[in-house]
Amino acid sequence: MKIFEEIESEVQSYARSFPRVFHKAQGSYLYDEEGNQYLDFLAGAGTLNYGHNHPVLKKAVLEYIMDDGITHGLDLHTKAKGEFLEAFKEYILEPRGLEYVMQFTGPTGTNAIEAAMKLARNVTGRENIITFTNGFHGCSLGALSATGNSHHRGVAGTTLGGISRVPFDGYLGDGIETTEYLDKVLSDSSSGIDHPAAVLVETVQGEGGINAASMDWLKNLETVCRKHDVLLIIDDIQAGCGRTGTFFSFEPAGINPDIVTLSKSISGYGLPFAIVLFKPELDQWKPGEHNGTFRGNNLAFVTAKHALETFWKDDSFAKDVRRKGQYIEDRLNAIVDELGDGNFTVRGRGMMRGINCVSGELASQITRACFKQNLMIETSGADDQVVKFLCPLVITDEQLKQGLDIVEQAIREVCAKTDEMPEERSYFDENYDIAV
Ligand SMILES: *Cc1c(COP(=O)(O)O)cnc(C)c1O
Repeated sequence: MKIFEEIESEVQSYARSFPRVFHKAQGSYLYDEEGNQYLDFLAGAGTLNYGHNHPVLKKAVLEYIMDDGITHGLDLHTKAKGEFLEAFKEYILEPRGLEYVMQFTGPTGTNAIEAAMKLARNVTGRENIITFTNGFHGCSLGALSATGNSHHRGVAGTTLGGISRVPFDGYLGDGIETTEYLDKVLSDSSSGIDHPAAVLVETVQGEGGINAASMDWLKNLETVCRKHDVLLIIDDIQAGCGRTGTFFSFEPAGINPDIVTLSKSISGYGLPFAIVLFKPELDQWKPGEHNGTFRGNNLAFVTAKHALETFWKDDSFAKDVRRKGQYIEDRLNAIVDELGDGNFTVRGRGMMRGINCVSGELASQITRACFKQNLMIETSGADDQVVKFLCPLVITDEQLKQGLDIVEQAIREVCAKTDEMPEERSYFDENYDIAV
């Protein structure tokens, strides 16, 4: 369709990887205008953990609309909001022994991060926030300062400050415990790193290349935070809502963060919705201090409440996510062992997985080959070198196998072609054919 080239800004991104006009979607499939079917291993960048148009959620939101339910997003008390809060308390907070209050921010992840950073700074009276290499927290200026990626940071057009960046788990190689470095610099008044308000971290870095922190590292990080009286903020916007096999990604570490952000899949239906959870004693906001027009998407409250009731009443859904996550891990390990030439590695946790192909060019050849076979899958990482598996958590075993078969075949094709490419030649070879 020409209209997109004509008037949609160059800033579009996902549309470039999947140049089709999409029209419908159901479960794990998207359909374009011509009715072609695509298996979706991107799932709205992790916003569709329960798949497209889940029938229970669809019915609930349709009934709400037919009933003239409130749809605007001002922070009034609505029945839909009350029911969501009750469901969240009953199915998520109470069973996990978590005591949090909930703040509704503007409906994007980045706005939840802004609120979390403001809150931590204002409660502690300190400016500095510790963030990590390859972290991604959003593109508005506060969140952007916490984000590592230079492509995004580069267009800020202003100073991005108030942050000290330290190495994430594994950044300096196996066997180097980077929390020891953090502990050291926080203990040293001449380290140049000011006593921070908070540490802001993803347990599995999504956009940064599916880097999963170990449970020990997360425990150590919490210990360092407590020792130095620093708040621990977990950005669970992508890894949360069941993606890694538990509702919150930090549960297996047994840690108790002070602040948690959720967005992407919290509505369960792809609707914009973001929240910040924090310990009651941190609730030092004055009315309207972090304001916004859209701070309570009622349609999202309805779908979120039904998603919690449908999937989080007991552990059976989470168990199934862990089972499928193990299958993905086993398949990816087999693919990498056979075809990865000793270079590729498997990353991630639960159903948030990646294959690090080292080269961004190789990874994009693989995802393009997948798209030719009607599989939608994206890359992430500093150089887009990681093929990123983010399929709906409700995907059937058959669809999951089918998707992984397509990826395996794509890697086979791309790597076979790469083998035929001329071997690296010396600069002294006068026939060296430099492709330009
Ligand atoms: C996507 C994402 C954000 C930003 O959310 P937006 O809705 O894109 O603003 C923040 N943190 C993490 C971990 C994310 O994956």
